[in-house]
Amino acid sequence: MLAFAAGRLWTPTDVVEHPLVLVDEGRVVEISARSSRQVPIGVSVSDLGDHVMAPGYIDLHIHGNAGHDVMDDTAEALPAIEQHLAQHGVTSYFPTTVTAPLEATLRALDRLADAIEARERDKRSSNSNSNKDGTQRALPLGIHLEGPFISHARRGVHPPENLLDPTLALFEQFWQAAHGRIRMMTIAPELDGAPEVIAEAAHRGVCVSLGHSDADFAATERGIAAGARHATHTFNAMRPLDHRSPGILGAVLTDCRLTADIIADGVHLDPAIVKLFANAKGAQQTVLITDAISATGMPDGRYRLGSIQVEVREGKCMSEGKLAGSVLTMDRAVRNLARFAHWDLQQAVAAASRNPAQVARIANRGVLAVGADADFVVLSPEGDVLRTFVGGVECSQ
Ligand SMILES: [Zn+2]
Repeated sequence: MLAFAAGRLWTPTDVVEHPLVLVDEGRVVEISARSSRQVPIGVSVSDLGDHVMAPGYIDLHIHGNAGHDVMDDTAEALPAIEQHLAQHGVTSYFPTTVTAPLEATLRALDRLADAIEARERDKRSSNSNSNKDGTQRALPLGIHLEGPFISHARRGVHPPENLLDPTLALFEQFWQAAHGRIRMMTIAPELDGAPEVIAEAAHRGVCVSLGHSDADFAATERGIAAGARHATHTFNAMRPLDHRSPGILGAVLTDCRLTADIIADGVHLDPAIVKLFANAKGAQQTVLITDAISATGMPDGRYRLGSIQVEVREGKCMSEGKLAGSVLTMDRAVRNLARFAHWDLQQAVAAASRNPAQVARIANRGVLAVGADADFVVLSPEGDVLRTFVGGVECSQ
């Protein structure tokens, strides 16, 4: 058994002052006030100092970092990405594909599913909860399929020649290639065949997210009726809001059946729009993503997003004159949301932990509570991530 003490704990919605957290086999088994609880005999306490313990962050939309892309066919890509994620507070994530030639996408899905399954096997076979190689890092939980079922009009930088209309047969092909590990899918609801594919994906437990879409209000509502429950990088790669023709954005911002995510890097959205979004979706339905690409944590230069060439200058990733992902990290997204929306840091932390776990139906994560995985961050008062733990084991910084 492990024990952790800190200055304060955010569940994230409740506060526990001077907590003592007991962890057994990677899970939280007890949270109490330190003053009222004797440490069990034989257990030594890791004192995290006068800092805040909060649930580890969950990134539902990330393509890469540290010079690597999740679609890279190299053994070192995912471990490097996962180490960088953990350095910025992310304890679990959905590796996210971009539109590519069909065969390349199928191969990437198969590789990602293999990697997810290998981590699950490691976790089951190791008593210490760390990996076979003794290190600890962020866990891939499932795959986010972003494209090819997206709109030509709102494709962003996804290659037009590889976009496809959704069909059940194609979805089944992706599903099989991914060993059933697709947990999230971005789709444009106005495409022919979209409602059927949305319904089937939702039936299989996929979090269907509306995005890269030129849908009008009615088509968006049809997507929601079919089973969509989220929206992808709201405002970006979407038909703009028109006050007489509200379109997809009018639906995303007003329909309480939908949660929605944003890229709060100060580039993809003006801070005033982040505040507008946060006011519209509120504390429970606002989700932070990074949409980070391989250039994250690297100097300016030329990088790749899937097979797309991207030029990175001063925090902007550009391709064909359009934004192509971000170099955002989740710790910065949390601080930015607090600042832009005038939220307190605790609320912003929930948008990176509890909220993504809820929308993607990730059990036992995103909260610090009895029975949850002991995935947590140690935060400074400013929201800097000082330390990150996955399953109670510290990740290397
Ligand atoms: Zn993306």
